[in-house]
Amino acid sequence: MCEASVCIALVDGEGVPLNVGREKRLFTPAIRKALVIRDRGCAFPGCGAPASWCDAHHVEHWEHGGETSIGNGVLLCRRHHTVIHHGGWAVFLGRDGHPWFTPPADAEHPSRGREPMRSHGRRTLTSFSSAA
Ligand SMILES: [Zn+2]
Ligand SMILES: [Zn+2]
Repeated sequence: MCEASVCIALVDGEGVPLNVGREKRLFTPAIRKALVIRDRGCAFPGCGAPASWCDAHHVEHWEHGGETSIGNGVLLCRRHHTVIHHGGWAVFLGRDGHPWFTPPADAEHPSRGREPMRSHGRRTLTSFSSAA
């Protein structure tokens, strides 16, 4: 797990950098606050758990050289944090700057491809082709 602590006091961090690179393993309150603004809560599709239940997860794991920055962080509730670490799901930051989630390979339909899904925070924007 990246960060077990919840309910970090959110200090207004004016001018505080949102990328502390490799200096700090844990997300700082300023970065966490920015993640809360972007993700609003658990970013897993269809979840929407409030931010106070969420951990900040390193998209590229710290152990693998990932930075501690808004561009490498995503808010996940405990359940979905476990899903990302152990359930075969993958998460990445899309070109829109928002988290996208890739489901695990479907053993019954291996040809079905692993279509990434947007974070719930962007679902209201209808860019799915089926919405046309
Ligand atoms: Zn994690
Ligand atoms: Zn969740």
